[in-house]
Parts: sequence; C-alpha cells; structure tokens
Amino acid sequence: MLCPVCNSNKSRVVETRITSEYIRRRRECKLCQSRYTTYEKIAEPTILVIKRNGSIEKYSRDKITNGILTACRKRNISQEVIQEIVNSVEKEILKRKKKSIKSSEIGKLVLKHLKKVDIVAYIRFASVYLNFTDLDSFKKQIEKLEQKSHKTNYNSKKMFISIKG
Ligand SMILES: [Zn+2]
Repeated sequence: MLCPVCNSNKSRVVETRITSEYIRRRRECKLCQSRYTTYEKIAEPTILVIKRNGSIEKYSRDKITNGILTACRKRNISQEVIQEIVNSVEKEILKRKKKSIKSSEIGKLVLKHLKKVDIVAYIRFASVYLNFTDLDSFKKQIEKLEQKSHKTNYNSKKMFISIKG
C-alpha cells in the first residue's frame, strides 16, 4: 500500500471495516500524514466442487452461506454465528490442501457445525444436502438425534411430522 501523495509504504490504520466482500481500511501515511482508503478483497479459495450429478463448479462462499441461511430461517440465529460456520467450514476445506472437494463433503462439514448451533436448522440442512434417498435413512438420523436429549427429541419430532406432511 503506497501513499497516493508521497509513495511511502509506511502507514498506520485509523479505522477498519469488514464486510463479507472486502476489508476497508482508512490509513494515515506516516510520512506526510495524508489519509487514504484501501480495500482488500477477501480471496475465495480456488477449489473446485464436484456436485452429485458429476458437474464441476468453482467453490463459492455465497452458496454455502445461502444454504445455511435457508436452513436457519426463523431460527433466531445471528449473522455472526452463520458467518462463523462458513469460516470454520472454509478453514477445514483449505486444510485438506486438495484442489477439489465433493459437494456432499462440504455438506457434511456444514452439518457438523450446524449441529452444535441449532438442531432444527441441522435437520433442514441434512434433508436437502444429504439427499436422503428414502424416509428410513432420514428416520434413522432423527432417531439418533432423539436419543440425545429431551429438547432435541421435541424439536426433531415436530420437524419430522411437518416433513411427513
Ligand atoms: Zn504520504
């Protein structure tokens, strides 16, 4: 980052704002005290996602975020928590140091984190992304959850009934 006035690369950050797309920093040049703003784009990892039907697409943070948002609808889960899940999932994907990942593996990573946050959101996400082929495997998942706690039991039963229609 060079000062637009004197070209010095020594600056101090006065203010930082982070959005989902970039980090905006207000800087002050240490040499001439000019103030300027820099935008750092948050780089998305260049990883290919192999979808269930075999098609390949570029990894997209937005897609994961949207999937989680849909599962968390009306569940009173803050944006920060959702962003944290996305960050954790992304970290785990990067840790693998592989150039591609199956979409189902991403789904499982999301589920691992959603489970800790909200059981209804977890089941919603599971029903879409694990693509339960029959009702039995879905039932098994719910039974597993029911064994965990009474509260869980109540929520998942309610969920199951509404899915059954
Ligand atoms: Zn300067």
